[in-house]
Amino acid sequence: MVAPLHPRQRLLMGPGPSTVPARILKAISSPTLGHLDPQYIGFMDETCEMIRQVYRTSNALSFPVSGTGMAGMETIMVNLVEPGDEAIVMVNGVFGGRMKDVLSRCGARVHSVEVPWGESFSRQHFADAVKEHPNAKLLAVVHAETSTGALQDLSEVGDIVHRAGMLLAVDAVTSIGGHELRVDDWGIDAIYSGTQKCLSCPPGLSPVSFSPRAIEVIEARKSPVQSWYLDVTMLKNYYTGAGGRAYHHTAPINMVYALREALSIVLEEGLDERVERHRQMHQRLRQGLESLGLKYIPEHSLHTLNCVSVPEGIDEAAVRKRLLDEYDIEIGGGLGVFAGKAWRIGLMGESASEKNILTLLAALEQCLQ
Ligand code: PLP
Repeated sequence: MVAPLHPRQRLLMGPGPSTVPARILKAISSPTLGHLDPQYIGFMDETCEMIRQVYRTSNALSFPVSGTGMAGMETIMVNLVEPGDEAIVMVNGVFGGRMKDVLSRCGARVHSVEVPWGESFSRQHFADAVKEHPNAKLLAVVHAETSTGALQDLSEVGDIVHRAGMLLAVDAVTSIGGHELRVDDWGIDAIYSGTQKCLSCPPGLSPVSFSPRAIEVIEARKSPVQSWYLDVTMLKNYYTGAGGRAYHHTAPINMVYALREALSIVLEEGLDERVERHRQMHQRLRQGLESLGLKYIPEHSLHTLNCVSVPEGIDEAAVRKRLLDEYDIEIGGGLGVFAGKAWRIGLMGESASEKNILTLLAALEQCLQ
């Protein structure tokens, strides 16, 4: 026997998950339906349509992969790449590094372009990369690098990549629902994200979207997709209804309810309004952190993830422990080269509010004394 489940009510201001609104928790506890029940199919179709709206795309193949953000990353890579293909990956933190690892495991010859952690890539980096590796099939880049807090401008990348005859694949795990994201306007061919960051939904699904150009590439494959579970040529029958709603795997029904609710909250607020709220909250937090003497690491900081250096002489883990134990506030520590040297403070979705910022700044001030 275990004690009844009573998780503490924490203020989640780390790199994700973020605080989940009661509306979403209520949706997830609704009665479970069968995954082929017409009522459930209706909910799922609505969810896919809202994924299109939030990504600002008309891509027919847009759906929630059953798995977290990493499953989305694998879905994009295993479907687009065959053994022996060449791929370019832009690496400026942990998640660019993971894309490189996943692509290598798909059998690709990976060319990585690296800048120091915390920096972003310029237009020239992309132009040089496609020139240097003209045979690459795709270029992969992280929009919001959660390990460093750096934002990557993608508005001009699509043209460069397409002119070189390649596909553009993007990680939008920490930008969806928090930063401007325009899949069609920016020429993104394949994109994945997660539910637990700026959508403020529990972790468990990864909204993905493939452009018609990406689908052509998948349909022209010479070898079958290495992963059975993530093969979109089979998944698309269930999610788009093409060829009937054939059973592939049992969809995580109640997680889809949660995502449907989360996406409708995003659209009720309005995409532009939500991006603007995250911008304003970032400015408010930044002002407060800087007045406590903390310095931002990236030049182009995300609004959704604020990465600051730990001041000399401060035990970063001890501060995080005090915030959690005494104030029920979670923030993140540094990852990779920033381990022990940085704090990562998330302002994601529901968590991005003035009230939370003031609470965190007051508690942090106490911990730094
Ligand atoms: N990509 C980025 C930029 C992330 O921040 C994360 C998670 O933090 C992932 C991918 C992996 O997502 P998950 O942990 O949901 O599998």
